[in-house]
Amino acid sequence: MLQENYETVEQKIREACDRCGRERSEVTLIAVSKTKPVEMLQEIYDLNQRDFGENKVQELTGKYEVMPKDIRWHLIGHLQQNKVKYIVDKACLIHSVDSLRLAETINKEAGKHNCTVPVLIEVNVAEEESKFGVKVSETLPLIEAISLLPGISVQGLMTIAPYVTDPEENRPVFKKLKELSVDIENKNINNVTMSVLSMGMTGDYEVAIEEGATMVRVGTGIFGERDYSIQK
Ligand SMILES: *Cc1c(COP(=O)(O)O)cnc(C)c1O
Repeated sequence: MLQENYETVEQKIREACDRCGRERSEVTLIAVSKTKPVEMLQEIYDLNQRDFGENKVQELTGKYEVMPKDIRWHLIGHLQQNKVKYIVDKACLIHSVDSLRLAETINKEAGKHNCTVPVLIEVNVAEEESKFGVKVSETLPLIEAISLLPGISVQGLMTIAPYVTDPEENRPVFKKLKELSVDIENKNINNVTMSVLSMGMTGDYEVAIEEGATMVRVGTGIFGERDYSIQK
């Protein structure tokens, strides 16, 4: 079942790339494995998937311990200050930086580990009350401030688009994030690149790819519905 899901997602990514003249290699599929047992992750790993996304620090580090070491772990969920120390040397990319205070904490931990932490800035493009992320208008000033921190390298932007039934409704959201990333790229800020655009989930990743996503985060489409009633 997982193999079939995975191949369907892969096929749809290829078709979306074809439709807009992009190479498949320009888009990284992140398998979002939150709430799923490691046996399921291993099945996808065996199909050659190496990028996995988790939204909780504890779950990521737990799976990190037992899964093969060549997996690239993406932290895609909100990050609390007090959890930063557990994650800086385990995640290949933190997608959810949305405040200078959080960035400063990451910078401090990076210093302790003698590493540079690659991050994305989470932008709440649709300005939904319930979502984390900075407003579009706050993004550039935040990035300028973060660019001065030696332990952090900003690699691009991430957004969680609204929940919609028709993915076309989110096209303007993805366009807006792409535009913002081009504007910021043109500022040529030291220590900042805009090479990553993390946008698109199960419901709308094809539209996101058409609008320039370089990373799509697909959970349900690969692993099936999540059951939050199972206590972990
Ligand atoms: C859960 C989650 C996803 C995956 O959502 P699906 O709709 O299951 O594909 C993507 N991004 C983030 C930030 C998530 O928390």
